[in-house]
Amino acid sequence: MNNGKVILVGAGPGDPELLTLKALKAIQRATVLFVDDLVSDEIVAFAPPNARIVHVGKRGGCKSTPQAFIEKLMIMAAREGEHVVRLKGGDPFIFGRGGEEVENLRAAGVEVEVINGITAGLAAVTSLGVPLTHRQHAQGVVFVTGHAKPGDAGTDWQALAATAHSARLTLVIYMGVSGAGRIQNELLTGLPAATPVAVIQNASLPTQRHLITTLGALADAINEGGMASPSIIVVGDVISGVALAAAHPEAVRAA
Ligand code: SAH
Repeated sequence: MNNGKVILVGAGPGDPELLTLKALKAIQRATVLFVDDLVSDEIVAFAPPNARIVHVGKRGGCKSTPQAFIEKLMIMAAREGEHVVRLKGGDPFIFGRGGEEVENLRAAGVEVEVINGITAGLAAVTSLGVPLTHRQHAQGVVFVTGHAKPGDAGTDWQALAATAHSARLTLVIYMGVSGAGRIQNELLTGLPAATPVAVIQNASLPTQRHLITTLGALADAINEGGMASPSIIVVGDVISGVALAAAHPEAVRAA
């Protein structure tokens, strides 16, 4: 029996021009699209006019569709021979439960293809004109979530801080804004209070804004700047390279 196929497509951070050509082609061929919250309308508009668009995020104040139900709908559509595209923000395999979806679809006998997207952390830092790695400042980069699965102990921030300090790593924190106070306190056990930090909201979109601060002032800066989700927090010396005043007059607060 042919169980069909689902393509998980990374929609990138928001700017439609950051889509890959492969992603665009998959969207243009889709007959049904299951669309996450953080995917911009301009990207959904690339779908054929007669394609069925299913929004499965929290838009319009509705509760998000349960993950198991989304997977069930995708499996049914794939079995019916639809060209199923699952559009996810950023890259499908950086947070956002892409890994779980692939496992469950494959377990149901559905073929899965994954098309990369530019992950928000990468786009956020690039939009400030600084790199994630730098021979003088950072030997590597860690993408980490600030929001653990319910009931899970979550990230060991103290261990991460010590490693980031000794191995000189840039920390790129997703979903960290609401827990910033705790993250700040724990990171301060291993990183200096003066470590530069950037918070970038709505990266790559016309509504993008950011602030530059230090680890010691992070939570206060987020509150004062009114920074909210979706935001990326970047911790590390690469941020010291941000030529703030000249290049980014939209910054909400300078250090
Ligand atoms: N798969 C996505 C991440 C999903 S988790 C990716 O690769 O980008 C959702 C989190 O991603 C948000 O809470 C936020 O931390 C981050 N995020 C997604 N889009 C963003 C954007 N345009 N600007 C800033 N952060 C963003």
